[in-house]
Amino acid sequence: MIKKFIPSLNKSSKVIERRIPVSKHGVTRDKFSPLSLKVVDKLLDEGHEAYIVGGCIRDILLGKTPKDFDVATSARPEQVQKLFRRSRIIGRRFKIVHVEEKRDLIEVTTFRGDHKSGNSRHATQSSEGVLLRDNVYGSLQEDAVRRDFSCNSLYFDIDSEEIVDFLDGVRDIKQGILRTIGDPEERFREDPVRMMRALRFQSKLGLKLDAKSYKQLKQNIGMIREVSSARLFDEVIKLLLHDSSATAFKMMMDTGLMEQLFPSSTKAIAAKPIMAKLITAAMQTTEARLQSGKNASPFYLYAVLLWPAAEQEFQEQLSRKQPPVRAMQTAGDKTIAGQSSLVSIPRRFSQPMREIWEMQNRLPQRDRAQKLLEHPRFRAAYDFLLVREQSGENLDGLGAWWTKYQDANQQTRDKMVSELPVKSSNRRRPRKRRPSSKTQ
Ligand code: ATP
Ligand code: MG
Repeated sequence: MIKKFIPSLNKSSKVIERRIPVSKHGVTRDKFSPLSLKVVDKLLDEGHEAYIVGGCIRDILLGKTPKDFDVATSARPEQVQKLFRRSRIIGRRFKIVHVEEKRDLIEVTTFRGDHKSGNSRHATQSSEGVLLRDNVYGSLQEDAVRRDFSCNSLYFDIDSEEIVDFLDGVRDIKQGILRTIGDPEERFREDPVRMMRALRFQSKLGLKLDAKSYKQLKQNIGMIREVSSARLFDEVIKLLLHDSSATAFKMMMDTGLMEQLFPSSTKAIAAKPIMAKLITAAMQTTEARLQSGKNASPFYLYAVLLWPAAEQEFQEQLSRKQPPVRAMQTAGDKTIAGQSSLVSIPRRFSQPMREIWEMQNRLPQRDRAQKLLEHPRFRAAYDFLLVREQSGENLDGLGAWWTKYQDANQQTRDKMVSELPVKSSNRRRPRKRRPSSKTQ
């Protein structure tokens, strides 16, 4: 192993260049996507430094399939862009290049410097006090230090198959540790999204955040509110849409992240603890879906997370003598509007969320089963109904009825509807509020 000392970039992190041979780490070239190898190869041919970098090496070391492949290089974005036909520069504050081929997309970033290592003029502060780094290019070592966790700061040399590891990332991965690079409080302040990334890597990859970082994360979780509502919308999805989403939700509750991002739902959960069970049950079904290769939609996830708030408001509207359909519409509007300054939910997601919620009032109307079955949101609404029952809500066997109805042939379906109690089979619209639309 070749070790090289590099002057420390800041007081808290010793930076030593280690080149770990393939015999020690076992990550071979063929584990990477052909396009990522091609991009690095071309950059090297042109005389630039270039490596495959980050999360994909971490995932391979953990025996997982990487979601995407990133490349880091000494070449400037404009130079990269000129080398690849199907490529474009994106990003304003920091330019990156997207290189595409067939269905593969590689993100190429130029080595970035740490503002603290150079001149403090490079660091600017947003109005909320978040440190912003600007377009400071740097060396490979500087690029390693500006990354978030040691496990994400690994570089794969495609020629030698060595992993370049400045911060003991390979050792940390082997020991199951998620270690913040530098001072955790400082790094979380620079970019509070790193706290959500920490929870994501802990839950998704089973790594354990180092004790100091975890303490700082809990203490500073309120800083997450400084992040834009649009970025938070994406980060919540990344944090929860994977095959350990129930664990991630528990972490959101334990660290206070849930309270910061979804205060109205968190209050409703405190008033009605069954709601936490409901979210957990929904996350478990999400996990099962993803594990069996099915997809899980972000609107369903958000419908679940905001259901406690929506349901509380629904009850409030009912108590003001609003009819159920109107009560749910008002509750949906209020819940989504109240949320938008924190986590903004685009309309193409909020609309299906409302439909899932509104369908909860319609699913009890079994005399209209055939029509309801054709509703584009039936499946999601039915899944949601099952989760409500799973968490302990008593809905008079409605879920089982719908399960049977879907599996039955037309004749049996007709029979099931004709056997319904008179009240629900003879009237198109029930005049009385149905007990089954209430939740406990
Ligand atoms: P995933 O499996 O979700 O893709 P990832 O670690 O690859 O996880 P990306 O968002 O693809 O995450 O980012 C690629 C790399 O860029 C990371 O591995 C990390 O080195 C660096 N990075 C990303 N976001 C940050 C951040 N907020 N702060 C510092 N470094 C970051
Ligand atoms: Mg990635």
